[in-house]
Amino acid sequence: MQKRLTLLGSTGSIGDSTLDVVARHPDRFSVYALTAHRNGDKLIEQCLRFTPEVAVVGDADTAARVAAALRVAGCKTEVAHGPQALVEVARASQCDTVVAAIVGAAGLAPTLAAARTGKRILLANKEALVMSGQIFMDAVRDHGAILLPVDSEHNAVFQCLPPCADKEVKLHGGVSKISVSKIILTASGGPFRTREPSSLVDVTPEEAIKHPNWAMGRKISVDSATMMNKGLEVIEAHWLFALPGKQIEVLIHPQSVIHSMVSYADGSVLAQFGNPDMRTPIAHALAFPDRVDSGVAPLDLAQIATLTFEKPDFERFPCLALAIQAMEAGGIASAALNAANEIAIEAFLDRRIGFMAIGDVVGRVLDALPNTGAGALDDVLAADASARRLASGFVF
Ligand code: NAD
Ligand code: MG
Repeated sequence: MQKRLTLLGSTGSIGDSTLDVVARHPDRFSVYALTAHRNGDKLIEQCLRFTPEVAVVGDADTAARVAAALRVAGCKTEVAHGPQALVEVARASQCDTVVAAIVGAAGLAPTLAAARTGKRILLANKEALVMSGQIFMDAVRDHGAILLPVDSEHNAVFQCLPPCADKEVKLHGGVSKISVSKIILTASGGPFRTREPSSLVDVTPEEAIKHPNWAMGRKISVDSATMMNKGLEVIEAHWLFALPGKQIEVLIHPQSVIHSMVSYADGSVLAQFGNPDMRTPIAHALAFPDRVDSGVAPLDLAQIATLTFEKPDFERFPCLALAIQAMEAGGIASAALNAANEIAIEAFLDRRIGFMAIGDVVGRVLDALPNTGAGALDDVLAADASARRLASGFVF
C-alpha cells in the first residue's frame, strides 16, 4: 500500500534527501504535507513538484507569498502557518507516516503529536527525544505508534539488532538485555579531531560548519564539530533502545563508513556499512521492512582501503562529556542541555561567542539550573525556557 507522508522540515538537508528518495518511488510514497520555516522559495518549488495537499510555513507573510505564487502556478496546495498548523499536519488522518526533520526543540510538539496519533514516525529530529525521552517513548507505546530511526547511527543499530517478527517492538523498549552486551555509536570526530587543541578558541563558523564527510544543516554541523552531536546521540540511543549509558559506547571512526555496531554476548559484533549519505537510512526507514533504491552509490571498500578507530578525547570535546553527564543526571538536565546548546550555537554562528564557549555556556546553565521534575511535558518546556533565558544571559 502506498505511504502518504507529512514531511516536517522539508526544506532542510534531511528534507531534501527524503524528497530525493520519495521521487524515485512514486508508486510507494506520496506527499500529504510539506513544512518549512522561512524558506518560502524552496517550499514553492517543492510544492510545484510534489503537489501536497497542505504546506506550512512559520509566519503569515511567508504564507501569503507562498499561497500567491502557488495560485498563479495553478497549484491547489493549501497554505497554513505557525506551530499549531505543524501539529495539525502531523496528526492529520490523511497521512500515515511523519518524517520528523525539523531542527531543534521546534520539532518537539508536532513529533509528539504524531506519536500521540499512532503514526509511523521516521525520526531525524533527535532534539525532540533528547528533551522528552520518557514522555515521547511512553506516547509511542501507549498510542501504538511505530518509531523508525533515521539518524544514521541509530538506523545502523536498528539494522544490526536481531531479526524478529515485529521488529518495531524493539523501539518500544524490548531489546533483549541478555544478548546485546553494548551498542557502539561511531563518530567521525568532525573537522577538529586532529587540530591543535590550543587553536580551537580561534575556530570560525565557516570552519565549524565544514564537515569532512557529511553535508548537513548548520546546527548539526556545529554539533558535530563540538561532538555535542554524539552526546545527543548517546541520549537518543538510551531512549530508543532502552539501554543504560554503560551499554552505549562512542568510537571515533574518521572514514564514516561503519555507521554503528551492536556487540553481542557471544563476542559477535554486527556493523552496518555504507557510504556517508543520509538517503540510505532514510530509504531504509521509508520502505521498512522492504529495501528500495536510494540513489546512493555502492560502497567500494577496496577503494577506501583503510578503516581506523580510536577512543574519543573528552578533554578536546567537553560537550560530549556534558551530554553524557546530563543523561546520567536524568530529570530535566537533557532538556536544559539541549536548550542551552541551541542558544550557544546561535551566538557562535552570529560571532558573539567563540567556539570553545559553546561548552562553557552549556556547562554553566547545567550548573545553575536546579534539576527537578521532568515527569510531565510542562516540566520539560519550563526547563527549556529557563535554560534558554540563562544561556542568553551568558552569551552577551
Ligand atoms: P536543516 O537546518 O538543514 O533543516 C531544518 C528544517 O527545519 C528546515 O526545513 C527548516 O525550515 C525547519 N525549521 C527550522 N526551524 C524551524 C522552526 N522554528 N519551526 C519550524 N520549522 C523549522 O537541518 P537538517 O540538517 O536537515 O537536520 C534536521 C534534523 O535532523 C535535526 O534534528 C538534525 O539533528 C537531524 N539529523 C540531520 C542529519 C543530516 O545529515 N542533516 C543527520 C542526522 C540527524
Ligand atoms: Mg547521526
